[in-house]
Amino acid sequence: MRLPRRASVASARRGLLPVALTLSALFALTGCTAATSAVGVAPVPTDVSQLTDDDGYIADGTSLTLDSRLPAIQRLDPNLLEALREADRAAVDERGTTITIVDGWRSLRYQEFLFEQAVQKYGSEHEAERWVKRGADSAHVSGHAVDIGTADAMDFLSRFGSEWGICQIYANEAWHFELATTPGGECPAMRADGRG
Ligand SMILES: [Zn+2]
Repeated sequence: MRLPRRASVASARRGLLPVALTLSALFALTGCTAATSAVGVAPVPTDVSQLTDDDGYIADGTSLTLDSRLPAIQRLDPNLLEALREADRAAVDERGTTITIVDGWRSLRYQEFLFEQAVQKYGSEHEAERWVKRGADSAHVSGHAVDIGTADAMDFLSRFGSEWGICQIYANEAWHFELATTPGGECPAMRADGRG
């Protein structure tokens, strides 16, 4: 288990033992043997500068359109991406609004980075879990969620997204959408505990 030990060392250096435990737990949970495989798993970044396009990282203040070739868009669930593209065509036609994405697919190590940031911000792993999902729990990591870039596009999707099966999932995250109903169906009641 090379990776967890490395992470433990890095975390201990920063006085963040709970994060090391988090990683150990994560790898135990997923039965991950990748740390010793030829493929390997990249260590969790310690700084935002270590995140790249291949992590699905989209820098603050920038956004992507749905025809982007970058992994944040290309690694979305194909059904979600197609639904979003259809919704985008309607939004452009009917409102002159383009649907842009500020967070799409994320790598596991990007999500773990966000979780570690939250641990540092909120002081404990327990508190951080209230705000950020860890690892594979995030619908962004599986490619089943997008965060929308503009208020106009959020408004369009919250009103009409269900025509394509697209729904706002969390009452407190007006920007976060997933496929959650059949096209033309009714979106499920929103959940209160967005940690997207
Ligand atoms: Zn989200």
